Amino acid sequence: MDKNTKKKTHIFQSEVKQLLHLMIHSLYSNKEIFLREVISNASDAIEKLRFSKLSSPENFSNLISPGKIQISLNKSEKTITISDNGIGMTKKEIINNLGIIAQSGTKNFLKNLKKNNTQKNDFIGKFGVGFYSIFIVAEKVAVYTRHANIHNNLGILWESEGKGTYTIQEIPLKEIGTQIILYLKDTEKEFLEEWKIKQIVKKYSDHISIPVEISKYDEKTKTISWEKINKAQSLWTLPKTNITKKEYQEFYSYLTQDTEKPLIWTHNIIEGSQSYINLMYIPKKTTWDMWNRENKHGLKLYVKNVYIMDDATQFLPNYLRFVKGIIDSQDLPLNVSREILQNNELTKNLKKTLTKRILTLLTKLQDQDQKKYQEFWNNFGIILKEGIAEDTENKDIISNLLRFNSLKISQKIQTVSLNDYLKNFKENQEKIYFLTADSFDSALNSPHLEIFKENNIDVLLLSDRVDEWMMNYLLEFKNKKFQSISKTDITLEKFLKSKPILPEKINQKYSLFIQKIKEILDNKVKDVRITNRLTNTPVIVLTDSNDMSTQMSKLFVAAGQQVPTIKYILEINMEHKLIKKILKIQEKEKLSIWIEMLFEQAILAEKGNLENPNNFIKKINKLLTI
Ligand code: ADP
Ligand code: MG
Repeated sequence: MDKNTKKKTHIFQSEVKQLLHLMIHSLYSNKEIFLREVISNASDAIEKLRFSKLSSPENFSNLISPGKIQISLNKSEKTITISDNGIGMTKKEIINNLGIIAQSGTKNFLKNLKKNNTQKNDFIGKFGVGFYSIFIVAEKVAVYTRHANIHNNLGILWESEGKGTYTIQEIPLKEIGTQIILYLKDTEKEFLEEWKIKQIVKKYSDHISIPVEISKYDEKTKTISWEKINKAQSLWTLPKTNITKKEYQEFYSYLTQDTEKPLIWTHNIIEGSQSYINLMYIPKKTTWDMWNRENKHGLKLYVKNVYIMDDATQFLPNYLRFVKGIIDSQDLPLNVSREILQNNELTKNLKKTLTKRILTLLTKLQDQDQKKYQEFWNNFGIILKEGIAEDTENKDIISNLLRFNSLKISQKIQTVSLNDYLKNFKENQEKIYFLTADSFDSALNSPHLEIFKENNIDVLLLSDRVDEWMMNYLLEFKNKKFQSISKTDITLEKFLKSKPILPEKINQKYSLFIQKIKEILDNKVKDVRITNRLTNTPVIVLTDSNDMSTQMSKLFVAAGQQVPTIKYILEINMEHKLIKKILKIQEKEKLSIWIEMLFEQAILAEKGNLENPNNFIKKINKLLTI
């Protein structure tokens, strides 16, 4: 025997082992998805070959048979065999594809899964673990495969029981393509029923473009014939009126492996100077990796109904990365690569139209179905917000789609639109007031709000990480300017109905006191002044209108960047009991401790932390004991 044909045992990468362990022990109720996954891989392999034949016919001219996927059931052996005449795999490919998880995202996912240990059963559908899902139903799997580029009739046999190892062996194979034999567990015999298989194929694979066939054995003639069991026409090429809601939903689950139904979708068949079809879905829930801007996203690209690539990111902006779907262009060249897409005018135009289409879909949704829109916002709002900074052209449309927390509607979920806010505008109010903070609770309890509460003026409360960044770009809405209430602002005085502007006299009366504070705090502050913003709080710090805000500086620090320390303006509430008390203090040292303590208190309220908390505690303890 040639030494190449010997069986060699390999060990799965540890991440794969973990996945397999989960599969084998999974109580996942939706077991049938294994077939969807296998068919989807077979269909991909056939489309890849079709594409290779078109882009380099010289290498594949001998392969003329049309692509098909065939399933046969063997009750006595308890096996399901799924074959395709697609591109197949080389030995190297099979080791890489079925033995290793290359995507680092997958590894992170597994780590998180281990930590949280929740939703184990849910994750199979959400995550789409693809090939490995066969181990939900099979106790052993054999994969025979020969790559279309291999001309010496030599293929590979890959076998595994999903328990940590697999074997690989070179064997003679006449046909190119892949054949997968699943040896079913005793408990999974239902998948040997023809009607069951037909039902599953109908459900998930009716609208893939490749025909799926099931074998029929004729007892009399003792021959096998094949029956086509799916429609085998790409769903998106059908007229919209011929597609049912259910078919749209099922196609979505085939496309995304999401167990949830999609929230909404838009399907457009465009013929004109540019001809293309798009079918784009907005999911119901975020996936675990949506946060990561680098992670896989984008549309599945077809050219003239030929599959080209997954995750084509060039057709939608990054802030719409939650959109799933397909784009099928009549005009792009078949040999299009990611690089070509990047610099292609056609692609740019398509991106513009598809972006508008999604934004219009969302605008309609918010007008027609507030509840659904809220569901969308709760899941994806934080991503959509990036659009304010990224997409100047559509900034107005996106602004209309934003939702916020607000002082008046003190709810944890963001429900207030900018139009809602404008409806509550007060007489003489010129600006849209907002406050950014680390969390909704800390925003809601901020002393900056005191004057707004008293005057019944609403304030938008922002506490998502992207907010500070977004607010650098969101400067106006319907001709009203945005104003951060933690920055100095002279126009605010106009609303101070309950407290008139402080008369000069009062300022003079306390000028010596203010002077003393300035001396004590020296270069720690930019300015010290009397305020009429406060009711329950003795002191507050503000940033000057042109200085960097506290939240912005925190963002920089979190990103590992150096920023100059902010110099705050300290404002004093002369009506407050504590201030009245310390006004009487004559001893300079004692006054210093009080002032420093109050200043640090204000910093603590503003930043949520202190550079030297121990010093602060010492000061408090000292004041408590004298
Ligand atoms: P995915 O399909 O998301 O890439 P899978 O786990 O389903 O992940 O499959 C892993 C890889 O194995 C595929 O990307 C493909 O390269 C290879 N593969 C699986 N099934 C086949 C097949 N029938 N023909 C050719 N390659 C296949
Ligand atoms: Mg797959």
